[in-house]
Amino acid sequence: MNAEIIAVGTELLLGDILNTNAQYLSQKLAELGFTVHFQSVVGDNPQRLEQLATQAKQRSDIVIYSGGLGPTADDLTKETVAKVYGDPLQFDQQQFERIRGFFHACSRNMPENNRKQAMVPAFGETLDNANGTAPGALFRDGEKIAILLPGPPKEMIPMFEQQAIPRLQKLQKAVLVSRVLRVYGVGESALEGMVGHLLEGENPTAALYAKPAEVIIRITAKAATSQQAEEMCGKTAQQFYDILGDCIYAEADQTLEQTVVQVLAEKGLKVSTAESCTGGLLSQRITAVPGSSQVFECGVCSYANTIKEKLLGVPADVLEQYGAVSPQTAIAMAKGSKALSGADIAVGITGIAGPDGGTPEKPVGLVYISVANGETIWVYKLLLAHRNRETVRFAASQKALDMVRRVALGLEMKDCQCFEM
Ligand code: AMP
Ligand code: MG
Repeated sequence: MNAEIIAVGTELLLGDILNTNAQYLSQKLAELGFTVHFQSVVGDNPQRLEQLATQAKQRSDIVIYSGGLGPTADDLTKETVAKVYGDPLQFDQQQFERIRGFFHACSRNMPENNRKQAMVPAFGETLDNANGTAPGALFRDGEKIAILLPGPPKEMIPMFEQQAIPRLQKLQKAVLVSRVLRVYGVGESALEGMVGHLLEGENPTAALYAKPAEVIIRITAKAATSQQAEEMCGKTAQQFYDILGDCIYAEADQTLEQTVVQVLAEKGLKVSTAESCTGGLLSQRITAVPGSSQVFECGVCSYANTIKEKLLGVPADVLEQYGAVSPQTAIAMAKGSKALSGADIAVGITGIAGPDGGTPEKPVGLVYISVANGETIWVYKLLLAHRNRETVRFAASQKALDMVRRVALGLEMKDCQCFEM
């Protein structure tokens, strides 16, 4: 079944408030297995609202409205949608008493305006509001359904969950289950080449989304039960694992830094960092993960060459001969960090984040990342053209995290040079 969402309120059109209700409702409808085809916002204007409501009723099985159920003259959603679905409104004594009770509870008299909130569908249904005065409504015309919810999220969300979801579940014969795989180390276009044939299915569907320095694969299956849908997702996920292997570093919303902390904790390993161009971003990302004190020893933010020498023992002649941005310096930084911290795995990062400081030989976006584990030391050359400072720094920290994950798990270190310690 398809659905659409209409948020009503001039304040939304003016940009005074953000349409968070639409985001919430879209997520929930997708979870419930409805395909959302449209989201719209319309002001508190009865002609335009009626026009949109008429169009929405034609093209969508279910239309969810939020807003415009208030007591003031500009709140017209119920009156307008009632007309479109051919359902007259009638006065409801019970709702009236409830609304009056709401005012009495805070020692106030009910303004005459609020009386209109006690008008309910004659043929449709009334949805109780446990958190405010405005009841919601459900209108039906043949197979077509409209559900009206109040605008304030603290009223809309409980009403949707308690009143709308059970009704929507009865209409929906299928459930939708999604599974998210997180991929690092294969760019979006390369990934399309590798798994393109898996992106053409209709049920389950699979789609790629590029995020900063990683790609997300979302698999979604529709079935009669969630168990069936999960099994369908599982089969498709396995096909991705068969092709991408350890480039899938985690699932759902687990980030790369969370994965690294988890892997290090499981293996009983500790890590330390020496960072130049990332300025502590790597250590920040690791230490932002709860429980990282178990696995993180120390981070040195060694921007100046003198600090690289003094704190990390990077030899002056290495800096002199190869420069601060070189594989030799990255290696010496990783070694220095390891000697300083005694950690099992140490990282050295040095590069040119830009926008200035690039040369033809060493352009902006060139970063060397080195990881040492006591026996072996690896170094990777990352070269990102036409990226801004923030992107270069983030991509370097992401690559370093993946290298630590690979060293900790004993996985292949693709495209790295490798030396004995
Ligand atoms: P209304 O029921 O249209 O009078 O809306 C009352 C209040 O609910 C507004 O002033 C907003 O604070 C909030 N609200 C209404 N619509 C939305 C929406 N689509 N997203 C988030 N908040 C909303
Ligand atoms: Mg309003």
